[in-house]
Amino acid sequence: MDYLPIFVDLKGRKALLVGSGEPALQKLRLLRRAGAAVTVVTPEPSAGIEGLAQAGEIVLERRAFAAEDVRGCAVVIGATADPAVATAAREAGIPVNIVDHAELSTFIVPAVIDRSPIVVGISSGGAAPLLARLLRAKLELELPARLGDLARFAQRFRGAVRAVIGDAPSRRRFWERFFDSPAAEQVLAGNERAAREAMLPLLNRISAHTQAGAVYLVGAGPGDPDLLTGRALRLMQQADIVFYDELIGPEILDRVRRDALRVYVGKTKGRHAYTQDEINQALLREAKAGRRVLRLKGGDPFVFGRGGEEMDHVRRHGIEVIVAPGITAAIGCLADAGIPLTHRDYASSVTFVTGHTRDGADADWASLAQSDRTLVVYMGLSRAGAIADQLMAAGLDRTTPVAIIQNGTLPTQTVVTGVVRDLEALAAPLAGQGPALLVVGKVVTLAAAWAQQPDQARVAV
Ligand code: SAH
Repeated sequence: MDYLPIFVDLKGRKALLVGSGEPALQKLRLLRRAGAAVTVVTPEPSAGIEGLAQAGEIVLERRAFAAEDVRGCAVVIGATADPAVATAAREAGIPVNIVDHAELSTFIVPAVIDRSPIVVGISSGGAAPLLARLLRAKLELELPARLGDLARFAQRFRGAVRAVIGDAPSRRRFWERFFDSPAAEQVLAGNERAAREAMLPLLNRISAHTQAGAVYLVGAGPGDPDLLTGRALRLMQQADIVFYDELIGPEILDRVRRDALRVYVGKTKGRHAYTQDEINQALLREAKAGRRVLRLKGGDPFVFGRGGEEMDHVRRHGIEVIVAPGITAAIGCLADAGIPLTHRDYASSVTFVTGHTRDGADADWASLAQSDRTLVVYMGLSRAGAIADQLMAAGLDRTTPVAIIQNGTLPTQTVVTGVVRDLEALAAPLAGQGPALLVVGKVVTLAAAWAQQPDQARVAV
């Protein structure tokens, strides 16, 4: 190891920054975030540095650097070619960093990921700063936004845990289990109250060596695994057992924890179909047995996904539920097809409606037939003709643009466009070839030319 990573407490301590420009400003921000009292010495301050000086955030000396400037400083940073800065600091025994000059520096400022109090610093030892920055970007995505909240939450409970669990090894086991538990997930999802409530049973269970079960109600988006949210991925990685639908493709399922038990509860022809009641009961049974139960659904669990019913059922039996919203088909598929949901020239509102209701009752198509609205119909492919007829009967112009998006966001995505009068004919060849959305409204004109050339569309996506 060429450098020892350490974290320095700079709160209220004097830091000197020599120089101006963007690199100086970046270092300045870091020093300020660490609470240092920063003095900037430069004959030509940039606008950014001027602004901070005017706001009283820093002390600005508009002049050339002098060796005495380093006196009393905890650290010195030079964003200038003047070798006197490094020399003065070294002679005074003060740690110094000269931007982009590792050979003149006694320390390196790493690329920082700040989830305070959790802080990650990445350094390439000056060998490849860009690589360090790319790594940071990767890790930024990996680390939950509320990681700091989780650390503070644990800190608040430290005393209580020490009081309940006397010996250190058991305490360590408790914390290992906690950071992997639904309670920790509640903190990461922003539900601290639920997390606090989950702490007591967790503490009590330590002796029984049983897990607290929970249900993770996760939306997996419309199909492209890139459209999974960070929270969805995290919960998928934690699951002991997963119940998934026909909309969940192999690429998504691949991202579920390897040893999780997989249970298909979809309705594809020829396979055993679970009724909604059976699904509700299975979720409850598994969670009560202490498992982390992943209920993985296409799109968003609360948009035509029965997520509400499942959540209600298990919560009524006292089981914790954590919801990870997903990108619903309308949002994901229209984005990929280049169709905006609203547009100031074409649509001032958007409605998501199902072509199939529980009791077979029909939507109020008459009230939906408006020319300045975008209508997105889920589960409407097999009834496309009837839906178009009712919209036209209610006065919708027969030449209103329509699109059908099938297998949206997937490599097999198909987009066809036309007018509402021809919707049935457009839909017919697509029957039985995957989930599809009907889109009715003028916004479709924006994508129509594009969609007629599917190869181009795919390249552009
Ligand atoms: N909860 C899901 C919807 C479930 S209902 C969501 O929020 O997206 C199932 C219907 O969603 C399908 O019949 C189809 O209309 C639509 N759908 C889901 N994924 C789709 C996809 N990749 N492409 C087109 N339509 C899709």
